[in-house]
Amino acid sequence: MTFNDFNFDDKLLDSLSAMGYTKPTPIQEQAIPMIMANKDLIACAQTGTGKTAAFLLPILNKLLKTEKRHLNTLIVVPTRELALQIDQQVEGLSYFLSVSSIAVYGGNDGTVWEQQKKALREGADIIIATPGRLIAQLQSGLMDFTHMQHLVLDEADRMLDMGFYEDIMQVISYIPKNVQKVMFSATMPPKIRTLANTILNNPETINIALSKPAEGILQQAYVVYDSQKVPLIQSLLTTGNFPSVVIFASTKDSVKILDRELQRVGIPTKAFHSDLDQSEREQILRGFKAKQIQVLIGTDIISRGIDVEGISLVINYDVPPDPEDYIHRIGRTARAETKGTAITFVNDKDQPKFFRIESLIGRDIDKMPVPESLGAVPLYEPEKKVEKKHFSKGGSGGSKTSSNYKGKNPNNRRRPAR
Ligand code: AMP
Repeated sequence: MTFNDFNFDDKLLDSLSAMGYTKPTPIQEQAIPMIMANKDLIACAQTGTGKTAAFLLPILNKLLKTEKRHLNTLIVVPTRELALQIDQQVEGLSYFLSVSSIAVYGGNDGTVWEQQKKALREGADIIIATPGRLIAQLQSGLMDFTHMQHLVLDEADRMLDMGFYEDIMQVISYIPKNVQKVMFSATMPPKIRTLANTILNNPETINIALSKPAEGILQQAYVVYDSQKVPLIQSLLTTGNFPSVVIFASTKDSVKILDRELQRVGIPTKAFHSDLDQSEREQILRGFKAKQIQVLIGTDIISRGIDVEGISLVINYDVPPDPEDYIHRIGRTARAETKGTAITFVNDKDQPKFFRIESLIGRDIDKMPVPESLGAVPLYEPEKKVEKKHFSKGGSGGSKTSSNYKGKNPNNRRRPAR
């Protein structure tokens, strides 16, 4: 299949070849015809699959044929970074078209607020917005949705995880009933199905299987005690050649603590979290992209959305709660078929979670020897730990299980002890 098969306008095809896209990705093959046919859609696809262009291309093509375009498309996203990134893709894909777009997000000064207000009042073609700021602008009463044709909710699962359910419903209350609604989500837990049933009208469904980690990623794990993690990072960064490193920690507070600890032992780092204001966040990302910052520490905010080339090492300071988040995190390295290393630190408590990840990707991840100077390490015995938890709770352990993982309870699987 090629992009010519969609009957796109020639100018859009020109933008595609200027962007270097030669053929549609699987999500694009499936979603583009459905969106062109004005169907509501719920699509399960992760970042990296080409999902953004999957909804932007048909929308841009329809925009070209639309006369009254005032506020034609609203794209609601969980984070400012994603809003900016989608806005950049709109710019790239509409290079030869005359389309206006604006990213609307908070955390900036009064001038930006006024600029956003003006663009919304005057009716940009495409608005990409985070829910909080959008509602603030909606309440100012200046937005006219009469000509709106498309609503896209991107990374819907992440928005619900961030507590935006009420905000999403409030946004929807402003949107005319007949607007075409499209939802993208990396995972498909029951709450996403419920949201889809509530807001979509007889939707089509697309499920793109979880993308496996790229071939070029060398995946390794170190089974350690918490106290060994900082010295191990020190050892890895001094003995290996890693010019560009991302370290993931699970919470904003652990990012800040780790940042302080690593700086204390002489590793220059920058912490990226939601307490920073927008200009600080952009400055850090620019420095990291320009390779002026070697080590960036962040939460899962940066596991989706940031598209930085040349990241040589990803370290999971702890095991992410959801196996799919693991794929997102390590997917920050080895982009565009380059090579990269992804290292996960597994403490006693995280062993069952790590076992689930190994089950999801269908293979064991190499457990690396910890330098002797760091002392004795725990044994990797995830099944024993799962069983203990299982018996003491008398239930399934209560851990978060992703939708793709249903029916693959590690408690029921036999694996040789390692
Ligand atoms: P996304 O999943 O939307 O975050 O896209 C991941 C990356 O793939 C982005 O850098 C896009 O520019 C790129 N991309 C999207 N569609 C295509 C395509 N058909 N061919 C090549 N690259 C693409």
